[in-house]
Amino acid sequence: MFDNLSDKLDKAFHILKGHGKITEVNVADTLKEVRRALLDADVNFKIAKDFTTRVKEKAIGEDVLTTLQPGQLMVKIVKDELTELMGGDVAGVNLSGNPSVILMSGLQGSGKTTFSGKLANFLQTKKNKKPLLVACDIYRPAAINQLHVVGEQIGVEVYSEPENKNPVEIALNAIKHAKANGFNVVIVDTAGRLAVDEEMMTEIANVHKAIQPQETLFVVDSMTGQDAVNTAKAFNDRLNFDGVILTKLDGDTRGGAAISIKSVVDKPIKFIGTGEKMEAIDVFYPSRMADRILG
Ligand code: GDP
Repeated sequence: MFDNLSDKLDKAFHILKGHGKITEVNVADTLKEVRRALLDADVNFKIAKDFTTRVKEKAIGEDVLTTLQPGQLMVKIVKDELTELMGGDVAGVNLSGNPSVILMSGLQGSGKTTFSGKLANFLQTKKNKKPLLVACDIYRPAAINQLHVVGEQIGVEVYSEPENKNPVEIALNAIKHAKANGFNVVIVDTAGRLAVDEEMMTEIANVHKAIQPQETLFVVDSMTGQDAVNTAKAFNDRLNFDGVILTKLDGDTRGGAAISIKSVVDKPIKFIGTGEKMEAIDVFYPSRMADRILG
């Protein structure tokens, strides 16, 4: 993935080679390529423009008569800026509650249920936690079953009330159940829709208000490009979520979502999903992602 962006940047830096130092003129050519590459990777126009402006300011201001070649210097500046754009430091998940309640939000198909399982598995195996998964999708019995299948796979209990049509009640009952049975993390998987709609937003906002989670995570399919950014904004406006989960990064995505989301909603990307298996979860490292983008 990201071949496109990486190739373009390579080409851009190649232009600088042989010039010996960065000038207004040759940096302008390079920046044009960088901006085009970002736009091709589905990065929002304004973000790409601001990004290249910052890179230009840094590049021109630098003493280029050092041991670094201009190309290498540009790679470093672009990498540092990309890292900053995607969130700078690694962001953790707040596990301070007892139990810690984590609310999952996102559109249907984004990978919410799969990620709920992955996170439970991660917390159980890597953080020594005892998680409880909660099925709060009252519309699709298949979604409840899917979570049960996931729970069985990873050996994590799943709480559901198939006859109850009130997600707020289900979530509150699940937290009671967790307290009574020694679970220290509760992961609430909610109903999604194929597109943002008012009923879904009201429902999840009500659950959010009632359970007051330590952590609200927004799950988004990285393959959906610019739409991912718009969906993130819609959910953030209602939930003021704490972090983003970018799924399907194993697919043929160009990564524009990773670059844009942080700047638009100003929330960190916390984890990435890199496959359908329960182990396909990684902490999001902005600098690693920048390396990957640059190739
Ligand atoms: P939900 O409707 O948001 O709960 O989405 P699901 O968890 O059911 O996921 C939708 C589809 O995406 C399923 O077929 C999952 O196996 C698949 N999926 C989820 N996460 C990933 C991922 O990181 N990589 C890939 N390749 N597929 C994923």
